[in-house]
Amino acid sequence: MSDFFENYKHPKWQKKRLEILERADFKCENCGESEEELSVHHGYYEKGKKPWEYNDFTFTCLCDPCHEQAEEHRKGAQRLAGHMSPFDVPMVCGYALGILLDGNAWYVEAGKLSKKASDGIADSWGINRNAMWNFVIGEESNYRINGAALRGLRAEVRSAPRDKVSA
Ligand SMILES: [Zn+2]
Repeated sequence: MSDFFENYKHPKWQKKRLEILERADFKCENCGESEEELSVHHGYYEKGKKPWEYNDFTFTCLCDPCHEQAEEHRKGAQRLAGHMSPFDVPMVCGYALGILLDGNAWYVEAGKLSKKASDGIADSWGINRNAMWNFVIGEESNYRINGAALRGLRAEVRSAPRDKVSA
């Protein structure tokens, strides 16, 4: 039997799987279904990593139809990224990061952002790209940009007189 199937029978995976199902109250975290069989969806895979070695927030409890869709979405995102110039991918990652930063648990250090990643975050938040980049380079490199900081910036940019915001 392949490692793949061995891993999914492993007691460590069975324990992790149960924890994720319990966290979701045994309901699909997308549609709320509780009668269908539920699966634990992996947000991503890394070569050599055991199924239970990922952070809990990368798992989603899903019913089979939602699980199938989620798999297609993940493959679609990989395919799309594969069609882009590798150097445009940071903008897409920035957009995704912007969505994650809307929650309160996430932050990114200002010094780790490229201009393209900053543009992606700005786009996902509806913030002027230059205003976002000025904010990023205006902070210390270890400054933690989180959702609260972005909400503040967005409010500031919107209330600023037009001539203060470069286009
Ligand atoms: Zn579902």
